[in-house]
Amino acid sequence: WGWYYPAKVTGLFLVIATLSMTLLAYVGVDHFRSGNEGHVNIRVEQSARTATTLFETIDDGFVAVEAPTGSPLRLEVDEPERLSPSPEWDEYVDSVSRTNGGAANVFRYDADAGSFDRIATSFTTPDGERVGGSEIESGIITAGHPAWTALVNGEVYQGEVPVAGRLRFAYLTPIVDTAGDVVGALAVDAGWVDDLNFLNDRVSTSTWMIMVALLATTAMVAIMVMLWAFRPLNRLIHVAQDLAEGEVPDHVPMTGRRGEIGVLANALARTSELQADLTTRATTDELTGLANRALFMEELTRRLATADLQRDECALLLIDLDQFKEVNDALGHAAGDELLVTIAASLRSVLTPGEFLARLGGDEFALLTCPINSQIDADEVAQRMTDAVTEVARTSVAEIGVTCSIGITILPHQADTAALALSHADLALYRVKRAGRAHWQFFQSSLEAPVLRRVHIATELRRAIRDDDIEVDFQPIFSWGGSRVIGLETLARWNHPVEGRIPPHEFISVAENAGLINDLGDVVLELACGFAADLRGSGLPAPPVSVNASTIQLWQHDFFDRVIDALARHRLPGEALCLEITESVMVHHADSKSRQLLQQLADAGVQLSIDDFGTGYSALSYLQNLDVHQLKIDRAFMAGAVENAPGRRLLQGIVSLGQSLGMQVVAEGIETHYELAVARELGSDGMQGFLLSPPLGANAVRDLLGKPMPLSEPGLPELPRRQPTAQSIG
Ligand code: C2E
Ligand code: CA
Ligand code: CA
Repeated sequence: WGWYYPAKVTGLFLVIATLSMTLLAYVGVDHFRSGNEGHVNIRVEQSARTATTLFETIDDGFVAVEAPTGSPLRLEVDEPERLSPSPEWDEYVDSVSRTNGGAANVFRYDADAGSFDRIATSFTTPDGERVGGSEIESGIITAGHPAWTALVNGEVYQGEVPVAGRLRFAYLTPIVDTAGDVVGALAVDAGWVDDLNFLNDRVSTSTWMIMVALLATTAMVAIMVMLWAFRPLNRLIHVAQDLAEGEVPDHVPMTGRRGEIGVLANALARTSELQADLTTRATTDELTGLANRALFMEELTRRLATADLQRDECALLLIDLDQFKEVNDALGHAAGDELLVTIAASLRSVLTPGEFLARLGGDEFALLTCPINSQIDADEVAQRMTDAVTEVARTSVAEIGVTCSIGITILPHQADTAALALSHADLALYRVKRAGRAHWQFFQSSLEAPVLRRVHIATELRRAIRDDDIEVDFQPIFSWGGSRVIGLETLARWNHPVEGRIPPHEFISVAENAGLINDLGDVVLELACGFAADLRGSGLPAPPVSVNASTIQLWQHDFFDRVIDALARHRLPGEALCLEITESVMVHHADSKSRQLLQQLADAGVQLSIDDFGTGYSALSYLQNLDVHQLKIDRAFMAGAVENAPGRRLLQGIVSLGQSLGMQVVAEGIETHYELAVARELGSDGMQGFLLSPPLGANAVRDLLGKPMPLSEPGLPELPRRQPTAQSIG
């Protein structure tokens, strides 16, 4: 490519130059040739004129007849008999030859033989020797000779004639008698034609040679000029190629130039800057300036592939902040970002050579450290990172103690691909989180078992949903007094053909992670609505049926339509259904979209219940503007209330607040009479738990609803309901 344009342009120039020079040379040579010929013609004609005039002058017997231009036409002789060899003739031709510098011959025409016979000649040989003779030489010009026809007809011949095997340019004047009959010819010439041709050839040869030399010079000069002119372009082409291959050139030359090259160079420099920027963006975490996930994976892959890893071991540390979510939620995103930046800086400041730190996303950092000689080495690194994190927490975001959990994989021993290494570290990290955080753990293959189990469950669950193997039980929610069923919570049940009952807490989270929760939710919703319709048709009391809705389901854009469709299919009013959602939905997704959905549901008459209340934020403020019907206090929260007085006071406050916001408060997980008593003492509107009733099949629910006052039995007396007041709070 570096030669392409110079060669092409030079080629084009050469073609044009060749064509024009050829034309010029051709015209020149042609002119020269015809000029020469004209010159020879004039010379030979003049020779002829000289000869005829001479003959006329020195001999009275001759009369020269000329054309108006002066060219001799013929020579008249008074006595044709005189045309025979004689010293007189020799003298004549000799003087003609001397005057003209060419040969001169006189012929006598032998009409009978049809031949012009030479009677006198004067001729200088190429060696300069003059020869002549007066013997008659017959048959010199006969039929077939170029001059013969003209002479026989009494006309002049001017042109080439063969002499001694070569050609001479001659002028032959017929000699006629007084009657006008041809009796002979006078021939003069102007030398050898070959000489003329030789001259012509020499001129044309040198012309062509000069032309070739000129062309070669032009080509060379053109090539050199082109190369010189294109050289900056070639250098910029290199830059452009680098850019095209995604490399960022260190320096773009010739940006200071003027003209097109300068413009091009500057454009490339700008492109190169953009490229550099893109590369940085693609590999750098914008917030912390650390390497991002992509770059980390690249580095990890590279180190796994390089030979030295075969000898040395490396450790991959996955570092996750323990309280980041809390910081973010409590202090806002800006504070969260600031925390991440300071922690990143702190981690970076304790790095040693051979360590590679990256932020993978959120509050997750990754560190690759090589070489590692033993687990003790890795322990040391983990301790150093932990210290770096806690150090920051103490200095910057003062009150909040931030700790981190670390999952560690040893490479290449435990994983030989980047993805596997990361997933192993992730597994170890998950273990640390489960075990109470703020520590580190090494990956062990035994950690993989739960993962494999979850994969297995996901596969089986997909099949179960498809084959209608999912069933539901309903757990009644009783009124404060226990005499009425005020709700039925639908709970998914999966009886696996081989493994038996698989509890929801196992398969629900798998369903959420494996993208199956929407399908599962649809199945449960359908069964719940079917049962609700059934109850309504049977004339039994029909309390609202509650259905648990996972957060993921709520994110679905058509969730509302699905609910409305299910209700419509079973001709149910909205009030027949209650959706249990966890409070995290309200806290983390208090955006307008979630709000709009909940409002739509409420407008359609569907009841909303906040499930597992007390496990998360327990802030009621966000409930204010929502049409929430029910608040279910989590079993763990209840347990706290049961154990100590401050807990009880807190719960008391929440119950009152919920009720003051118009909500029905339900206590979950009542297992003992004592818990029941506490729940009643708190003034809960509803109660749910194994003590009152376990989840039941559809028939058992019908039996229960058919029986009056199922709880009016010894040990569960109807206590007088204590109305909570503002004073009882706290
Ligand atoms: P949850 O919404 O809190 O449902 C109540 C769970 O507490 C049920 O467990 C129920 O059997 C159990 N329970 C009831 N009374 C007592 C008691 O006195 N003591 C104790 N220890 N537990 C009691 P289950 O059926 O195993 O469901 C567990 C969780 O699975 C549910 O918790 C709910 O979060 C989820 N789940 C169940 N079915 C569905 C469903 O169809 N969709 C969704 N998204 N989640 C479901
Ligand atoms: Ca529930
Ligand atoms: Ca619950």
